[in-house]
Amino acid sequence: MHYHKYYPVDVVNGPGTRASLFVSGCVHQCPGCYNQSTWRLDGGKAFDSAMSDRIIHDLNDGRIKRRGLTLSGGDPLHPANVPQVLALVKRVRAECPGKDIWCWTGYRLEELDEAQWQLAALLDVLVDGRFEQTLADPGLLWRGSSNQQVHQIAQLTRSVPLRNML
Ligand code: SF4
Repeated sequence: MHYHKYYPVDVVNGPGTRASLFVSGCVHQCPGCYNQSTWRLDGGKAFDSAMSDRIIHDLNDGRIKRRGLTLSGGDPLHPANVPQVLALVKRVRAECPGKDIWCWTGYRLEELDEAQWQLAALLDVLVDGRFEQTLADPGLLWRGSSNQQVHQIAQLTRSVPLRNML
């Protein structure tokens, strides 16, 4: 996996103060995308274990209290990104207790395959769907167009049998 940007302190992409990782690679090609430079899978820099270690360290760094981790892009649920994003999410769950994880994807929730669901089930919040220019609204919170939805994953996993999610 490659990533485009990492912001160790971010107050824009999700609630509170966060660390944010923008991965490379997106197949959706939404007209009006604000981040076209992230579409290529091989753009940006390689995501390695040192970068993973840095994110874990930053989330646990008490000098700047971060509420959690934001995953965006590009698309963290691009099938080529899923294995490494899943590994990172598992590390955050195991090593950063109390931190939340928000993720933005161009896929709709009902389009996710089994591997993508394995990852999604470990998130707190998934904001889904392509950016639709005709539905764009700058007044929306955490989303660019009204077709996109903010899913509280814990509520979904309580209402859907776990075997269907993992
Ligand atoms: S899903 Fe997001 S990153 Fe991908 S093309 Fe659409 S707006 Fe751009």
